[in-house]
Amino acid sequence: MLTLNSPLHELSGVGEKIEKHFNQLGIKSISDLLFFLPFRYEEYEKVKNISDLKINQFAEIIGEVLLIKSHRGFRKKIHITEALLESNGSNIKVVWFNQPYLSKTIKVGNVLQIKGKVVEGYGGPSFVSPEYRKIDDLKSSINKNSKNIQAIYHVNSKLNQNNVRKLIQQCIFLIDKIPEWLPLKILKTLNIIDIKEAIAKIHQPKKLSDIEEAQKRIAFGELFIRQLKSQKIKSDLNKKKANPIIFKQKETNKYINSLPFKLTNSQKKSAWEILQDIEKDNPMNRLLEGDVGSGKTVVISIAILNTLLNKQKSVLMVPSEILARQHYYTFKKFFKDYNFSIALKTRSFKEGDIKKADLIIGTQSLIQKNIEIKNVSLVIIDEQHRFGVYQRKAIIDKNIENNFSPHFLSLTATPIPRSLSLAIYGDLDLSTINEMPKNRKELITKIIDNKKRDDLYNFIKERVKNNEQVFFVFPLIEESEKTNFKSVEEEYKIISNKYFSDLNCEILHGKTKKKDKEHIMSEFSLGNIDILFSTTVIEVGIDIPNATIMVIENPERFGLAQLHQLRGRINRGDKQSYCFLLLSDKKLSAKSLERLKVLEENKDGLSIAKKDLEIRGAGEVFSSRQSGFSEIALAKIFSLEEIQIAQEEAQNIMKSDIALNKYPLIKKKVTSFESDYHLE
Ligand code: ADP
Ligand code: MG
Repeated sequence: MLTLNSPLHELSGVGEKIEKHFNQLGIKSISDLLFFLPFRYEEYEKVKNISDLKINQFAEIIGEVLLIKSHRGFRKKIHITEALLESNGSNIKVVWFNQPYLSKTIKVGNVLQIKGKVVEGYGGPSFVSPEYRKIDDLKSSINKNSKNIQAIYHVNSKLNQNNVRKLIQQCIFLIDKIPEWLPLKILKTLNIIDIKEAIAKIHQPKKLSDIEEAQKRIAFGELFIRQLKSQKIKSDLNKKKANPIIFKQKETNKYINSLPFKLTNSQKKSAWEILQDIEKDNPMNRLLEGDVGSGKTVVISIAILNTLLNKQKSVLMVPSEILARQHYYTFKKFFKDYNFSIALKTRSFKEGDIKKADLIIGTQSLIQKNIEIKNVSLVIIDEQHRFGVYQRKAIIDKNIENNFSPHFLSLTATPIPRSLSLAIYGDLDLSTINEMPKNRKELITKIIDNKKRDDLYNFIKERVKNNEQVFFVFPLIEESEKTNFKSVEEEYKIISNKYFSDLNCEILHGKTKKKDKEHIMSEFSLGNIDILFSTTVIEVGIDIPNATIMVIENPERFGLAQLHQLRGRINRGDKQSYCFLLLSDKKLSAKSLERLKVLEENKDGLSIAKKDLEIRGAGEVFSSRQSGFSEIALAKIFSLEEIQIAQEEAQNIMKSDIALNKYPLIKKKVTSFESDYHLE
């Protein structure tokens, strides 16, 4: 019998292959599938006359098969099935790829219901790889039930929307078995629907308001768990002691004066807040937030300096090998006048003696069991959003002994409205860097038409002559049959040979060997490479002040937050920097252009995130399953008052073990590191 925990292959139509593709999306059980949420919706007219169909419209039609045949495509690899459907004297072509069995199961005379997008091509308007269903009788099934809403899922290239929908349809009856885990009282107070209703509506909404109701409920579940977790951390930490790190004022001033630049006021204020916090004998739990390039590293160096001057140890964990090395060299430079021992540890690289080091810098390989890190008084995590809760906790736990906990600081460039952060992370203290270093010129971002490509290349040549460096960023590694997006391999060959043959060009992407990757990055930071052609693999946080130009091809392919992060890799020195969003010949939709313009006009991450959400509109608040709702999205869905009501309720539940025991499912979620959507 099917249950929520049944593996996918117990559903009909799921073989080993399909199951594997779903597993890759993190979907193993039926409950995973039911919690695989659509990221967007399309509205369409339920049944249209074939003669009324328009190009690019999403529609559902019913027609009789006049003709069906199969053949191999031009490249032989592809198997094409074509059918001609008729109703009321009009007909339309339907094409499917690589489903050779279709021409056997669908026969001339069958009546099909077809659901999909109408596209131009194949000799007039056609449906390409639409969903289809055989129905018994043409006349009886046509009802003019006007509008319909279709959920769209983030599938991988091996699966299609149809796969997902069919399977969800098969287990819809199990929704009734999903346990409600939120207190009913709070659902009532806030007028929020229960989990069963929400899951049913999120997959198969009948009207637009269904989507909103369902999203609100699901987002609330997430918000509530975040608040509970944060209450728990707070109460855990309150029971612990930390090593006070005494502020060494004289030494600190000397250090700050030795820096090659003057700190901004925000940097000073943040450093001061941190220093005051670590002087206490209970553990700091603080978030340092500042846009890319705002100078977070030097702020933490002040805290680390004081820790080491107190003869205490510090650990700095970062999300990638390249960043770890960069920080390692930066700190060696920062602390050149001191006799500190600094160790570096990544998966493939080790320098210095970790056991004896005063400062240990490394990637998540630091949390491996066999790595002995003990008695650390200050733990810092850079780019904290790149780590899971588990990794964050693991590095702290390594240093928790009995009653003792290290001070903890995490760094992020993800913007969070202050009022919201207080409500969501009740446990966290927040320091914000809200200004850029004074020497920084304002980054110029410009959308460039494909026709202006030559001008752009000439401009780049000029700048390179001036000893500046350039990133080209592409959406794909290699050419793809499926999309028209540009690939770094193809374009690297063309552009570097044709236009920049006298410059040093290199290529870097996710498939570049690790060793080569590091070599290329270090050559680039030394200035030995002029132009780096790459995908988005260039690390967040990479700091090459001499790189002043970034050209992003097919910018429409990226999310706004991602583009903003990308351009944060330039404009880190005192020279004027430029980010060019280079369009291809393909005409962009008005919405896509509007999105890109947001980047031209806005400089800071917070306003970009807000505008992004506005443009995306309802139904598109999820970025992906793993990351759930962003803080900004939560702020849009809930009023501050609602968030506070939830916070009070969370406090009540966390007040005592007895209160928490009343909610076993909540208890499980709060104390486990599973994704918040995980049920059992
Ligand atoms: P992020 O906040 O993104 O981690 P970094 O700490 O890497 O930023 O700093 C970006 C660049 O700005 C570095 O090259 C750093 O040396 C420089 N920088 C930091 N603070 C200042 C300042 N007050 N004045 C001038 N340059 C600064
Ligand atoms: Mg950084």
